Amino acid sequence: MRFEDNIQFKETVKKYSIAKGVKLRFLKNEPLRTRVCCKEKCPWKLYASHDKRFDCYVLKTYNPMHKCYRSNENTMLSCKMIKKKFRDRILMEPKMKISTLQEMCKSELEVYATYSMYQRAKSDVLKEKQGSYVEEFASHWGICYRVVTL
Ligand SMILES: [Zn+2]
Repeated sequence: MRFEDNIQFKETVKKYSIAKGVKLRFLKNEPLRTRVCCKEKCPWKLYASHDKRFDCYVLKTYNPMHKCYRSNENTMLSCKMIKKKFRDRILMEPKMKISTLQEMCKSELEVYATYSMYQRAKSDVLKEKQGSYVEEFASHWGICYRVVTL
């Protein structure tokens, strides 16, 4: 990946950090080389330096591994729990109100999540179900096709 100069590089890094919600630190911040790490001691790191051949800033090292998405992981976990626990009930009642799901989660799981997370858990369950229909159909169709060609 190439950048015009270290200013453009730094702007990109800042945009990335806002979009991802991570805190980054510039270890080295020089016109010819820039090293960035995650403030949370993640393996994530970036190293870019000026390349004479192309007269631009080039990304030399990039490790995309973050371990610091703590809040995100919690959301993922709750979402998984909701899906696992209420999967059957959502499938039996696909038009279930989000507020109903919310109440059930509160009383049975003691999970308190955002409205959008319940929405996501519900739509995921329904999507997965749809996915399995498609798969069933595809394999069924595959068998028919084979029968015909034989
Ligand atoms: Zn991190």
